[in-house]
Amino acid sequence: MITLYNTRTRKKEEFEPLNDRKVGMYVCGPTVYDYPHIGNARSFVVFDMIRRYLEYRGYNVYYVTNFTDIDDKMIDRANKEGIEVSELAEKFIAEYRQIANELNIKPANINPRATEHISQMIEMIEKILDHGTAYVAEGDVYFDVSEFEQYGQLSGVDPEELSAGARVGVDEKKQDPRDFALWKAEKPGEPSWDSPWGKGRPGWHMECSVMGKHYLGVPFDIHGGGQDLIFPHHENEIAQTAAAYEVDVPVKYWLHNGFLTINTEKMSKSEGNFFTAREVLDNFDNQAVRLFLLSGHYRQPLDYNTKALEQAEQSMERLRNAADTLRGRISILERKGIGHTNADDSLRTANEVVRQSFEREMDDDFNSPGAFAALYSFVREINTHASKAESPAVLRESLATFSGLLGVLGLDIEESKVAGTESSQEMLKAAVELLIELREKAREEKDYATADMIRERLGEAGISISDTKDGPTWKIG
Ligand code: AMP
Ligand code: ZN
Repeated sequence: MITLYNTRTRKKEEFEPLNDRKVGMYVCGPTVYDYPHIGNARSFVVFDMIRRYLEYRGYNVYYVTNFTDIDDKMIDRANKEGIEVSELAEKFIAEYRQIANELNIKPANINPRATEHISQMIEMIEKILDHGTAYVAEGDVYFDVSEFEQYGQLSGVDPEELSAGARVGVDEKKQDPRDFALWKAEKPGEPSWDSPWGKGRPGWHMECSVMGKHYLGVPFDIHGGGQDLIFPHHENEIAQTAAAYEVDVPVKYWLHNGFLTINTEKMSKSEGNFFTAREVLDNFDNQAVRLFLLSGHYRQPLDYNTKALEQAEQSMERLRNAADTLRGRISILERKGIGHTNADDSLRTANEVVRQSFEREMDDDFNSPGAFAALYSFVREINTHASKAESPAVLRESLATFSGLLGVLGLDIEESKVAGTESSQEMLKAAVELLIELREKAREEKDYATADMIRERLGEAGISISDTKDGPTWKIG
């Protein structure tokens, strides 16, 4: 049984999806106005880990994460660069996808973009207006917080306190400082869409309410994002969806990741204390970066520093070495034959223990550091016993358990991947290309025997050469 901490109820609860084994999960995605920093990446990796664990536990997860491709930051940046907002979005969506791929984030079932859902946003705003929880003011539409009793249910903010001391800004048309925009009237130079209130664009909170409802319905199971989104973004999302569809609880479980910090300060663009995900991935092993991001509990702060990344690289190395130890022993035994020793019994026991401890830790609010601790003690068992084990079956089972559990955390120690690090891929490419060149040379010299031998031997090694009109090409398999 999985227990998880629900920000809405402020306690750990047993996880019981609304529809048996089906889980609808929405995670606030990036605002695609700039390069993601490694703090943003923490959020994406954390929720990917949670999704993978739910799937491992047999849930059928439908995972939605959006691209916020229209908001103030997008407009400011596009204006600064002198390009269209849509062009800016394309550029950073491609960047985000690349980073997600390098961090082994499983593709979402769908990545909706806010601008693809404007008509549904208008529909939802109309519903909120019909229910008397919003008002129109000169082309803007505002949510009327005073008409929504449960305001503050997620963040614990007191609506009364919110209004005390706050003032409506001079250029705002709100009736009350707590109210927030559902629709913003067009300003010169901004992208806009037609609506019953005139041309304009949606408010940010509206975007996520609508995409969640559109793909997962109301209510749905899990909504995730960083802790900075609890207020006002998620509080306002709840208010909008609850008011439009007259439901008390639009989302059952609210999960929030802690911040990646630098010297205990939140990493953020506005403070300038950030590293882009790109530079971190360029400087450290990709899988080690992922391991680092999961090395702390997802709700706790995690401090970014070079030492922690280097340690993560060492840990990754230790994990890979243990897998290699198992593989090496299996290949020796394949020649030597089957036996049975105490070491086999110890490994078999360790195999059961690691699975149980891994599950116990992950069932407890996705405690990934605990899961790693279980895996590291398995590594110690492997290092102690594998070389004395005699049973290929036990060793294979250990390898399967090990790589399976690491896979749940999104870490891949499959042999091909280990060999597929960038540098070894480069090396492979250089070596194959050299052989192809030698083959061409042999053919020029009419030494067909050598040319055929190179082709055949590469074929045996799993590399096939095809002769095309543009010259020879090669591929693996
Ligand atoms: P944004 O692109 O700013 O909308 O952020 C994308 C996601 O990253 C959101 O879920 C944020 O809450 C999250 N986030 C932003 N900064 C950090 C940080 N320093 N540590 C962890 N998550 C963060
Ligand atoms: Zn959102």
